[in-house]
Amino acid sequence: MTDLPTDLTRATASALADALAAGTVSSVEVTQAHLDRIAAVDGQVHSYLHVDTEGAIAQAREVDERRRAGESLGALAGVPIAVKDVMTTKGVPTTCGSKMLEGWIPPYDATVVTKLREAGLPILGKTNMDEFAMGSSTEHSAYGPSRNPWDLERIPGGSGGGSSSVLASFQAPLATGTDTGGSIRQPAAVTATVGTKPTYGGVSRYGLVALASSLDQAGPCGRTVLDTALLHAVMGGHDPMDSTSIDAPVPPVVEAARAADVKGMRIGVVKELGGEGYQPGVRARFDESVALLQELGAEVVEVSCPNFEYALAAYYLILPSEASSNLAKFDAMRYGLRVLPEGVDDPSAEQVMAATRDAGFGPEVKRRIILGTYALSSGYYDAYYGSAQKVRALIAQDFDNAYGRVDVLVSPTAPTTAFKLGDKLEDPMAMYLNDIATIPANLAGVPGMSIPSGLADEDGLPAGIQILAPATKDERLYSVGAALEAALVDRWGGPILDRAPALGDAAAVKGA
Ligand code: GLN
Repeated sequence: MTDLPTDLTRATASALADALAAGTVSSVEVTQAHLDRIAAVDGQVHSYLHVDTEGAIAQAREVDERRRAGESLGALAGVPIAVKDVMTTKGVPTTCGSKMLEGWIPPYDATVVTKLREAGLPILGKTNMDEFAMGSSTEHSAYGPSRNPWDLERIPGGSGGGSSSVLASFQAPLATGTDTGGSIRQPAAVTATVGTKPTYGGVSRYGLVALASSLDQAGPCGRTVLDTALLHAVMGGHDPMDSTSIDAPVPPVVEAARAADVKGMRIGVVKELGGEGYQPGVRARFDESVALLQELGAEVVEVSCPNFEYALAAYYLILPSEASSNLAKFDAMRYGLRVLPEGVDDPSAEQVMAATRDAGFGPEVKRRIILGTYALSSGYYDAYYGSAQKVRALIAQDFDNAYGRVDVLVSPTAPTTAFKLGDKLEDPMAMYLNDIATIPANLAGVPGMSIPSGLADEDGLPAGIQILAPATKDERLYSVGAALEAALVDRWGGPILDRAPALGDAAAVKGA
């Protein structure tokens, strides 16, 4: 067993789990160390929308007692976690990054949250996100952006930038995310952390505030591939409360992460992902990673997925269509905000609804509701939504053809390293392009993972490599991810995240 670092917040989840099981540290100690860290640095990073100090300590105390009583506990029992604010938490505020849900206290837990509680993971708090998970930077959060611990003037990715920055600033050893078009993988890439979007249906969607139901997928975020696998195993599995949940055991992700073996695997480099528009440093780290995989005994071939070119266009018809329908429930009657129209004496329900939606939704959400209702309107349904669904089928076919030849596919996760806050805020198209490489997996429902690939030469900021596998074969992500991670740790002389400036030491951090 590896010794724990003196600063418990620097330990991996798996090392903490071992120490907790061995009784060398208590969950209260580990949880308190993270709460102290949050108090010291979250003023700079703004990863959390809500910190549940009392709740976390109470859960930690309970798991310590269960352990003392000799109960057999799950692998991650006692390891604290941060939960993305898209997931309902009973008795704990859930805003989804929107003014619309300000002050809403859900009466129930999402299934994922229930699973975390049952497995004994104290919940530290709720992480920041773009409003209703629409965005790639957290700048669309109604509560202000999170910052990238590598450079506080830069974005931590989105929509799950709260969860990625929590990990990269050591404010939690684990976090949850949701990925509708890349919101777990792109934030992981720009912060040098790890994130997995499981196979569609692999993790329950019950209790997630829905963005686009046919694309949404909850998944695990961690600092190492093994940590992420351990969390995947806790979060995943069949849920009768979600009609699209897969009725099968969680794939053997932990075993695969421990085996970390790629010998004899066939790996396809997606020709359409990684060319024009990709930063040279991102591309260089990707090519290097592919070479490492080859050295580890994998066979690498180039694979063409010609319809991926249309993925972004199809996504921005399908997602707004589904979102416009899902967000119709925010009607001033059922949840959260209610605004009365100004200067109207006896307002109708419709007027209250309009005033509330005008005040409660931010500009990106409004943009997508307008796009979606337009794409679904009777005269245009076939031309827009219908065509997009056909493109979606072609993309799934591209994956099927590719997986006839290779076991996994790889590409850079995002085209660039973290950009500066404000740089893309006024240009929706530039913002959307961040997900060009991650969106195909959501359209086809296949699993994907991002792990750090190194530092880009131009700016010294981290880049990510994406691994994609066939549906239900999530374990392959972990075999490849863990093998490559070990090779990259050798190549860089340690985890890439260790090169991030030390937060708390203001002089070392740009923008502090
Ligand atoms: N950035 C993408 C979007 O804005 C993906 C969002 C997500 O995965 N939740 O739609």
